[in-house]
Amino acid sequence: MVGETERDGMTWYECEQCGLLFDNRDDALHHEENCDAEEPAYIQ
Ligand SMILES: [Zn+2]
Repeated sequence: MVGETERDGMTWYECEQCGLLFDNRDDALHHEENCDAEEPAYIQ
């Protein structure tokens, strides 16, 4: 599932598998379908 988070007054969509943030829900959904991360990777 793609999560939603607000930051800087914008809504971001987060891949719950790897933690990547997207400003476009479709991009996040598409990414997550293809995401093969098995553990969260928090790279800042
Ligand atoms: Zn991902």
